[in-house]
Amino acid sequence: KRLILIGPPGSGKGTQSPIIKDDYCLCHLATGDMLRAAVAAKTPLGIKAKEAMEKGELVSDDLVVGIIDEAMKKPSCQKGFILDGFPRTVVQAQKLDDMLQKQGSKIDKVLNFAIDDAILEERITGRWIHPSSGRTYHTKFAPPKAPGVDDVTGEPLIQRKDDTAAVLKSRLEAFHKQTEPVIDYYKKKGAVAELHAEKPPKEVTTEVKKVLS
Ligand code: ADP
Ligand code: ADP
Ligand code: ADP
Repeated sequence: KRLILIGPPGSGKGTQSPIIKDDYCLCHLATGDMLRAAVAAKTPLGIKAKEAMEKGELVSDDLVVGIIDEAMKKPSCQKGFILDGFPRTVVQAQKLDDMLQKQGSKIDKVLNFAIDDAILEERITGRWIHPSSGRTYHTKFAPPKAPGVDDVTGEPLIQRKDDTAAVLKSRLEAFHKQTEPVIDYYKKKGAVAELHAEKPPKEVTTEVKKVLS
């Protein structure tokens, strides 16, 4: 399967991804995770992406299309993939479609994590992450067994620098202006499935499985 997850920051894409990935043996390509790794490693890509990310603005289309093009060549992606956080502009979607067309393939399903903006601040400001595994916790909705510590490894959890109310505002603006048109782009192709992303995580998982069965 070739899937796209679209939704605003905090809508639950990263939480549902590991479950979908394991059920269907897909690779999980999250452009946000790849960009954060590049920033931490101070690679040329990371140096170019850092400023926009800190402000909650989108990184340029060419940079992210480049990383996705490269990442999709991995052997683990040949059976299919989950794109999490990409495409975020119509230009990115068109370039992705071109890349897939060249391989004679296309996107099977776009999962739209529809949710009201009002819920997202609490989700984002309470988010804690185990960076090396990508496991995500929430102080209220999914607390770790011990505060600030990953359940599996016992390693410390971190909060993302851009997970503040102020930066969330810019990220939501970018979502509504630049990413919502991507949903319409795929609606015209009849590929979009709507999820009720405000529901508890397990109920969202049930909806996802129904859509993909
Ligand atoms: P995204 O990847 O879309 O930005 P995440 O999956 O990281 O979102 O979720 C954001 C925060 O909200 C995390 O702290 C996560 O634990 C929590 N969360 C995810 N899904 C739900 C849900 N259905 N209900 C309540 N909290 C959730
Ligand atoms: P979230 O999980 O909260 O939706 P991400 O981790 O996907 O956020 O993205 C973090 C930041 O990385 C974004 O605010 C943006 O600056 C950058 N980014 C990630 N994916 C893209 C993309 N496809 N196009 C442009 N910028 C991106
Ligand atoms: P208005 O245009 O009146 O400001 P919107 O059309 O943006 O209202 O939608 C109303 C609410 O539904 C908003 O809070 C928005 O976050 C949410 N919403 C609308 N479309 C989506 C979508 N595709 N994904 C997530 N949330 C959405």
